[in-house]
Amino acid sequence: MHSKYQQFDAIVAGSGPGGATVARELTRRDKKVLILEWGGNSPIMGTIFQAAAMGGIPFKNVLLTNQLLAMVRGTTTGGSSILYYGTAFDPPFDMLAKYGVDIAGEIDEAKNELPIAPLADHLIGPMAKRIMASARELGYDWRKLPKFVYQDKCRADCWRCNYGCPYGAKWNARMYVEEAVKNGAVLINGVKVKRVIIENNRATGVNYTDRGIARKAFAPLVILAAGGIGSPVILRETGIKTAGYDYFFDPLIVVMGAVEDIKGGKEIPMATGLHMSDEGYVMTDMTVPGALYRVLTAEAFRFHRLFSHSKTLSIMIKAKDGLSGRLTDRGGMRKPLTKSDKKKLMKGYLRAREILRNAGAKSIFKSWYIAAHPGGTAKISDVVDSDLQTEHKNLYVCDCSVIPEAWGLPPTLTLIGLGKRLAKHLCQEERS
Ligand SMILES: Cc1cc2nc3c(=O)[nH]c(=O)nc-3n(C[C@H](O)[C@H](O)[C@H](O)COP(=O)(O)OP(=O)(O)OC[C@H]3O[C@@H](n4cnc5c(N)ncnc54)[C@H](O)[C@@H]3O)c2cc1C
Repeated sequence: MHSKYQQFDAIVAGSGPGGATVARELTRRDKKVLILEWGGNSPIMGTIFQAAAMGGIPFKNVLLTNQLLAMVRGTTTGGSSILYYGTAFDPPFDMLAKYGVDIAGEIDEAKNELPIAPLADHLIGPMAKRIMASARELGYDWRKLPKFVYQDKCRADCWRCNYGCPYGAKWNARMYVEEAVKNGAVLINGVKVKRVIIENNRATGVNYTDRGIARKAFAPLVILAAGGIGSPVILRETGIKTAGYDYFFDPLIVVMGAVEDIKGGKEIPMATGLHMSDEGYVMTDMTVPGALYRVLTAEAFRFHRLFSHSKTLSIMIKAKDGLSGRLTDRGGMRKPLTKSDKKKLMKGYLRAREILRNAGAKSIFKSWYIAAHPGGTAKISDVVDSDLQTEHKNLYVCDCSVIPEAWGLPPTLTLIGLGKRLAKHLCQEERS
């Protein structure tokens, strides 16, 4: 059992893909790690109620900009990866190389360990197949996307991964946390890290709250992995006031159209798609569960379509937004969509319309804006160096905050690579 006298080599604050990976890798190298996680640790059930508790609480999980764009993040062991769509895009190797960061070896390692591959045909739903066939007929190079999925455990006609896969088919960062715990890490849930304790310009521990009670934990290494919004808030509280400015959040819209000859709606989203890198966005199929479909439909004032979920083809357009905006000290988002961001989404919308029409869809409309990848709030070469260390010795950041430029693609695989690299760096440093 954890006591304040227990000796840890490192404290990891947050357990999404960044934190879970670094924690797992450190424990594999015999380090004693304390993981402090704000969210809970109940077994994943794949229900809407549990998903709402982990990812639907206003001002905690659903953050609104002044333009009412909703940004979603998960708070539970495993972070947003419990709710993510499990699509594995390769990292921006060239962008990272400009900052002296090479994670090619770590990504090879991750690809050997994790179930990353396009889905077998029988696991791709009829809606994604219809969209892919239509796009290809129009000449687009629309393809199956690599997924973090143990396909032998995955089920066709299933949508539950949207709420957290209860079958263990979708890889998520909780699996790495569980491994870290097996290797001796201590995980404390329901606690919120507030600031890092700095003595003589060196991190020595953290202040956190445990159900309202202020506590401290000590270790010679502190790694913030509280996500693109959580980590900059802690950094600011620690005195690093430059965190939380000029960030990205990959805004997206969903374009929907009705078809008469499919009865679907139960499938894994983002199974297929196309990266329009020249135009600055990615397009994928995105069939979401009925409840979320109804939210998207109501937001767009298409009330007559509320109950057409099983007949609606949906394409997501996710844009590479420019770096802009600021976070408030409490993590509130101030970031308007720029003209250029909206132009990219509109271009994607027009292409999605064309694809949906060609697929036989009618009454096509688009959702309001959403976002799900906040990052760049503690950028490499700005708030952290190329080893992910801040201006304070032994205080590191390892999550989506450190991505140095706008990128526009889902970052989980990149964060796994950065977590592996950081663990190696920390262990080498101790040896020298
Ligand atoms: C619906 C959805 C679909 C997505 N689909 C994909 C996809 O297909 N592919 C992909 O690559 N990415 C996808 N993403 C994005 C991906 O999930 C995130 O980019 C990724 O999880 C970010 O990892 P992270 O380590 O930066 O932080 P997070 O996953 O956000 O984890 C941060 C953790 O820190 C905890 N925390 C926050 N503040 C504190 C604090 N003060 N103290 C202690 N703990 C704290 C949180 O509870 C959380 O567990 C999706 C996201 C969403 C929401």
